Amino acid sequence: MEIRVLGCSGGIGGDGRRTTSFLLGDEVLIDAGSGVADLTLEELVAIRHIFITHAHMDHIHMLPLLIDSVFDQLQQPVVVHGLPHTLKALRDHIFNWVVWPDFTSLPSEELPVMVLEEMAPGDRVTVGDNHFSMIPVNHIIPTVAYVVEYPGGAFAFSGDTTTNDTLWEGLNALPRLDHLIVEAAFSSGELALCEMSKHYCPQLLADDLRKLEHDPQIYLTHAKPGEEDMIYDECRNLMPDRKLHHLTGGERLAL
Ligand SMILES: [Zn+2]
Ligand SMILES: [Zn+2]
Repeated sequence: MEIRVLGCSGGIGGDGRRTTSFLLGDEVLIDAGSGVADLTLEELVAIRHIFITHAHMDHIHMLPLLIDSVFDQLQQPVVVHGLPHTLKALRDHIFNWVVWPDFTSLPSEELPVMVLEEMAPGDRVTVGDNHFSMIPVNHIIPTVAYVVEYPGGAFAFSGDTTTNDTLWEGLNALPRLDHLIVEAAFSSGELALCEMSKHYCPQLLADDLRKLEHDPQIYLTHAKPGEEDMIYDECRNLMPDRKLHHLTGGERLAL
């Protein structure tokens, strides 16, 4: 399987900065941040499932335009998976006929172009050969990490989170973990901001990674624009024994 990093920045601002979205193969998106806008119309039409980590703008804001852009061309609905809280936020605040049409009832209630499918920790959704599950994490609103078990391996994406036990216990329970995409949003000098917004800084991430019993390739994401190099350098100094990579928009990971 290939993961195409459409976006993994904490913001925008040139140099490949797009907000969070990962394309798995042709059919699956995890999150729908601004990176989705780089896909061709044909690539957008091919998307069948979208797994959303949480309702924050930087992770969902291309979803309305994606659905609108492929509206005439879809033979079957796009299935959007997420926590009840996440899907309710989409219904109440985005697809509410004010900000955007309710595409769960268009072109008809019987055959809509988009279906919102509630998912809970413990559920397992299979798409092709890949199995998706979620693990709750610790962010300012209900948020999950996703685990994808694919033939021959497993990878996980943390979503947005700060210090927690659930993610690490969930990952330790997996028989294997080959790749981990994890956030490190702010530098360690911004600890107060991390605690307020419930993100990791390198120090908090290093403390939590001691809980992880696997030794995956680790890809750092969600850095505040302009602080990428500083955050990455801090992470490398604090976690010299981990296999760290600085992920950037446009990269492709072959799993
Ligand atoms: Zn967030
Ligand atoms: Zn975010």
